[in-house]
Amino acid sequence: MNDCIFCKIANKEIPTDFVYSDDKVVAFRDVNPQAPVHILVIPREHFDSALAVKDSSVWNSLLDAAVKIAKKFDLEGKGFRMVINTGEQGGQSVPHLHLHLLAGRNLGWPPG
Ligand code: AMP
Repeated sequence: MNDCIFCKIANKEIPTDFVYSDDKVVAFRDVNPQAPVHILVIPREHFDSALAVKDSSVWNSLLDAAVKIAKKFDLEGKGFRMVINTGEQGGQSVPHLHLHLLAGRNLGWPPG
């Protein structure tokens, strides 16, 4: 996707510090953090949203990376939240599949 900002980040066309990367996934800090730890975990491959994923190995890569990052950030003790906003009412603003990893404060429930 030529005009996708997260594809550009994954491809390093937009210089970004990755907190994690492997052959399938990259992760970086959210530009507008909603918690002391707010990391976006994205597949390198473009999917418009969760609905576009056909191969379950994408979920394996994404969730496995998110849990590794949570451990890297020492979040096992206090906990964390993983969120995938999907579509308009789901609050998705960037049309490239991404998982939010949030931590570092008490996260309210239900979310807004
Ligand atoms: P969502 O609303 O679930 O689609 O989340 C998109 C997230 O991407 C928001 O939390 C934005 O703050 C974040 N975001 C948008 N552009 C960038 C960027 N260039 N670098 C880091 N985070 C970004």
